[in-house]
Amino acid sequence: MAEHKTGGIPVSEIPTVECFLCQRQIKFGRGVYKGRIVQAWGITICQTCESGNHDGIFPRSHPRLLDHMKSNGIEIRRNKKGLIDIPQ
Ligand SMILES: [Zn+2]
Repeated sequence: MAEHKTGGIPVSEIPTVECFLCQRQIKFGRGVYKGRIVQAWGITICQTCESGNHDGIFPRSHPRLLDHMKSNGIEIRRNKKGLIDIPQ
């Protein structure tokens, strides 16, 4: 029977993904999730970007996101502050 281990995984073996906003590699897998998938946008963002943009994303700081949304036909909705809310 295969041994099922929980925890104790070397950090180097935790998969990483790139945060779409800051383009840093974040740990994402095996119980370590330093970000989340924004399904509505089809991207992954890190916790730092999430907390740093809790009021919404400043569009001019993230032209790449706008390009991504436009090319994928995602509606760009701005909140009262003119920022783009990150969907849950
Ligand atoms: Zn980030």
